[in-house]
Amino acid sequence: MSATQEKFWEKPLQALTELEWEALCDGCGRCCLKKLTDSESEQIQFTRVVCRYFDERSSRCKCYGERTQLVPDCFNVKQMDIGTVNWMPDTCAYRLRFDGKPLFDWHPLVAGSRDKMQAAGISIGKRVISEEYVHPDGYEEHIIRWVKA
Ligand code: SF4
Ligand code: SF4
Repeated sequence: MSATQEKFWEKPLQALTELEWEALCDGCGRCCLKKLTDSESEQIQFTRVVCRYFDERSSRCKCYGERTQLVPDCFNVKQMDIGTVNWMPDTCAYRLRFDGKPLFDWHPLVAGSRDKMQAAGISIGKRVISEEYVHPDGYEEHIIRWVKA
């Protein structure tokens, strides 16, 4: 790592290069889970139902370049006003940096590998079920507590 690349993730989000911005994503997949809003508290509840384009083996999007065209409720974090979004997972690197907080020590950029992240159970991995197999009316049965906004 060169001196100029050192700890680039500590820079303000707006100062990141395109490559640095992409590298900040830990690939956890949490933002690809379907979400419900509690009708009384208006709190966001994550479900284990995941977007059909999420590849469980690589933990990556299968249609990254066209994601916002193919999936209406998908998003480009770079074009979002993160401060106005109430559903970003509380572990998300973009949300943390937007809030001026450091990355967790398990983040691959900090830890140097994905091992700590795996051990901490951050990746959604195989704990999910594709939306292809769940009717939207049944999402409530799949609400989880291990991801929070
Ligand atoms: S929650 Fe944040 S860090 Fe995780 S995959 Fe989504 S954008 Fe990347
Ligand atoms: S289109 Fe890709 S990035 Fe968007 S929610 Fe689906 S899997 Fe995630």
